[in-house]
Amino acid sequence: MTKQTMSILVLCSLLLSACGNSNVESLKSNDNKDQVQQSQVQVEAGKAKEKEKEIPKEIPISPIPELGQDSVIKFKYHMNSNYDIIPNDAESPKKVVLLTFDDGPKDADMINRMIDTLDKHQAKAIFFVNGYKVKENPDLLKLIHNREQIIGNHSWDHIILKKIPEAEVKQQIEDVQEIVKNITGETPVFFRPPHGAGGDVGKKVAKDNGMLYMTWSNGSLDWEMKSSDSDHTATIIKNITDQLHSGSNILMHELPWTVDSLETLLTQLETRGYSFVDPRSIELKMR
Ligand SMILES: [Zn+2]
Repeated sequence: MTKQTMSILVLCSLLLSACGNSNVESLKSNDNKDQVQQSQVQVEAGKAKEKEKEIPKEIPISPIPELGQDSVIKFKYHMNSNYDIIPNDAESPKKVVLLTFDDGPKDADMINRMIDTLDKHQAKAIFFVNGYKVKENPDLLKLIHNREQIIGNHSWDHIILKKIPEAEVKQQIEDVQEIVKNITGETPVFFRPPHGAGGDVGKKVAKDNGMLYMTWSNGSLDWEMKSSDSDHTATIIKNITDQLHSGSNILMHELPWTVDSLETLLTQLETRGYSFVDPRSIELKMR
């Protein structure tokens, strides 16, 4: 095989691997879609010239820059006043759930296992982090960011914001914006107050910082469980499926039993016909 033939094959293989990521691709802007379609034409042309059995299997897969996370993602959903996720048009599936994990980042092993499972199901989730945890574990925040999951603001401490003065609420929220920006280069666009209790001031400060404020519409109750409980997975799945409805905004936490249950949960949700909404496709204004 000549060097030139090998180069063509490497290029074709890289393009094929990029096109195979249909979940990401479907959320790109029209411009990027055109690029992807063009790439597919090139790939088809390349395939016609070479027999498939000659394509080496060990080609390293590199990310394709135009399919990276900086790409513009089209808003296809919005959040209603019940914190449910609603499609903007008939083309976007109605049976979706939003996956969220609060109170981290705590532990690299738990985070990696959660994201391995999310990746397996081509799912994106919001990790609502507390500032004091981020300060203790900046590398864990980077891990979530580098593995292309979405970081949300859960305020600095885990306190009830509606009980404290406005200036303190502002600091609780804006200090998290700052530390996340400093570590990842990106500022969160989703805010969830601790205990779901942001009050009017929390809502205003979130809005002033360009964030979508949310509590949840489906609580897993994983925060009420203890390690000594039996059959965590069955309980978490029952709690979620009992409340399951189109657009469910599912509250979970970075907890060992939630990590252990995630694979079964996501499979169950898919079996029931639900898919996982990409948080980046949700408009940042409630309506
Ligand atoms: Zn919390």
